Amino acid sequence: MGRGKPDARPGGKGLPPSQRPSKVCPVCGRPFAWRKKWKAVWEQVTYCSDRCRQQR
Ligand SMILES: [Zn+2]
Repeated sequence: MGRGKPDARPGGKGLPPSQRPSKVCPVCGRPFAWRKKWKAVWEQVTYCSDRCRQQR
């Protein structure tokens, strides 16, 4: 105990881009990162784009 190193705390607001959540698209198999337009629906987002959604 008592080491003076700052801890990186996960969670909270204002995540840096490198720590934003990401998912893997089941259609094209590529990972895609959180986008601002998905802010309200991220939990429902499954595909990286409308195109992949329609190809399902
Ligand atoms: Zn895709």
